[in-house]
Amino acid sequence: MTDSITIALSKGRILDETLPLLKEAGIELVDDVKKSRKLVFPTTDPAVRVLIIRATDVPTYVEYGGADLGVTGKDVLMEHGGDGLYEPLDLNISRCRLMTAGRKGEAPPGGRIRVATKFVNLARRYYAAKGRQADIIKLYGAMELAPILGLADEIVDIVDTGNTLKANGLEPRDLIENISSRLVVNRASMKMKHGKLNPIIEQMAAAVERRRQG
Ligand code: AMP
Repeated sequence: MTDSITIALSKGRILDETLPLLKEAGIELVDDVKKSRKLVFPTTDPAVRVLIIRATDVPTYVEYGGADLGVTGKDVLMEHGGDGLYEPLDLNISRCRLMTAGRKGEAPPGGRIRVATKFVNLARRYYAAKGRQADIIKLYGAMELAPILGLADEIVDIVDTGNTLKANGLEPRDLIENISSRLVVNRASMKMKHGKLNPIIEQMAAAVERRRQG
């Protein structure tokens, strides 16, 4: 059991872009994830299985040892916080920007500001570091509506092309962080299972490097 590995992934962009990297590390899913409602999937390596969970749950599973490895966005990791995880590898996939945004053509208000976001911890730290007083309002989706409906002066959200902001009468303001997906590893697993984990991490790193070089 000590050398069996559980990898936590989430559906969508991260899964689509991580599976080819895992394949280069010799790990392939046996079933078609898209056609299955299962949450745990065997792989071509009998000692490796893959969990499909919500992106925001990946750091929690890996931190508490429910999974040894995981892949999740830097935005999710920044929101999760803490130093309970190793983050050995930037996979350079699912790239986007974490930004503030507000109504188009309007300057941000001078005094206390209302900010709607799903990244409440991260936003609190960001505005505090800038010395701005901010009331943070937690939303679970459709952040772009908040400034238009007067719920907030600004939002903190993920921006890729900027089309979503534009379509909702908003514009990007400040860049908080460039985001990409990261490989995260449980601290105890890193010590106890290094014999099995190291080759996986190294082969994924090599695959990322090959892509970087085109
Ligand atoms: P866009 O209209 O291209 O700026 O995309 C913005 C929306 O797509 C955001 O509201 C995000 O929810 C989502 N999105 C874009 N890129 C990513 C990513 N790498 N990870 C997670 N969500 C993303």
